[in-house]
Amino acid sequence: MWLIMAASLFPGTAPAGPIAIAIHGGAGTISRQDMDADREQQYRDKLEEAVRAGYAVLRQGGSSVAAVQAAIKPLEDSPLFNAGKGAVFNADGQIEMDASIMEGATLNAGAVAAVHRVRNPIDLALKVMTNSPHVLLIGDGAEQFAAEQGIELVDPEYFKTEFRWQQLQEAKAHENAQAAGSGGFYSTVGAVALDADGHLAAGTSTGGLTNKHYGRVGDSPIIGAGTYANDQSCAVSGTGQGEYFMRWLVAYEICRRVADGSSVQHAADSMIKDVLVKVGGEGGVIVLDRQGNIAQVFNTEGMYRARIGVDGQVKVAIYGDE
Ligand code: ASP
Repeated sequence: MWLIMAASLFPGTAPAGPIAIAIHGGAGTISRQDMDADREQQYRDKLEEAVRAGYAVLRQGGSSVAAVQAAIKPLEDSPLFNAGKGAVFNADGQIEMDASIMEGATLNAGAVAAVHRVRNPIDLALKVMTNSPHVLLIGDGAEQFAAEQGIELVDPEYFKTEFRWQQLQEAKAHENAQAAGSGGFYSTVGAVALDADGHLAAGTSTGGLTNKHYGRVGDSPIIGAGTYANDQSCAVSGTGQGEYFMRWLVAYEICRRVADGSSVQHAADSMIKDVLVKVGGEGGVIVLDRQGNIAQVFNTEGMYRARIGVDGQVKVAIYGDE
C-alpha cells in the first residue's frame, strides 16, 4: 500500500495523459419516424457497450490502436450495424467487407477490402499493419493472409441478415446504389482513440453500400479517405457515400486543416457541412485530437455515435438534436 502511494507521488513517474474515445455506427440512421423505441434502445445499448470496451483498454494503459480494435469488434459482431455480421448485400446478393486501422504515432496502417469470410475485418486490418510489409490486401489474397495469421474465418452465411436482405430488395426496386425507404444505410462503424501516452489511432469497418457493384471498394479501407490518424494533427473515421470521401480525401483533409491550426470541430464542420454539402456528398465523421477534443459531425438526419471524453463522461446519441 505504502509502496503504491509512494510510486504515485514520485516525480519521476511519467504522469498519465488524458484519454478519450469516440465511435460511430454510421451516418445513415434509421429515420426517426421508422425507429421504434425497442430498436432505438438496442442501438444505444450496443454503442455504449462498444465505447466502454474501447475506454476500458485506455484506462488499463492500453494503446489507442488496441482501444480502436476493442471498440469496433462489438459493432462488427452486432447485426445492427453494416460491418461484420449484418453487413449489407452487394448487387449480386453477396457480402464484401472493407476495413482499416491507422496509428498516429508512426503513420503505420493496415487495411483489407472485399473480404467475405473474415469474421472481424478490423482484426485482419490490424494484422496487415503489424505482420506484413503492406498497407492494403484485397479479396482472396487477404483471406489467404487471414488463414496464415490465424484470423477466424466463417461461412459467408454468418453475415447475412433479413433486414439487410430486404434493404437490397428495396434498393433494387428503386434501382439505386443504396437502400431506399427504411433507412439504415451508411451504417459503417468506426472509432478514434487517444491513449495515455498521447498517441492517436483511427479505424473503420464496413460492408460498403447496399446494391453496390461486385468488386466495388469504398472509402473505409482507403487511408486518407475514410480513415486517418497522425499524432501531429488528429484521428478521423468517416461514414457516408464513399465515392465522395475518396475524391475529397476527407479524413486526410480534416487532419491537414487541423495541422494548419483549425480546431477539430471547425475542420470537420467545414468538410462535412460545407465542402461535401456543396457537391451533394452525404456522410459524417468522428474526429479526435491529442488534447482529447472530439467532433462528431454529419450532414444527414443522424449518426449513431458515442464518446467518452477526457472528463470520463459517457455520451450516446443518434439524431442531430441531441
Ligand atoms: N462509407 C461507406 C462506403 O462507402 C458506407 C458507409 O459509411 O456506410 O463504403
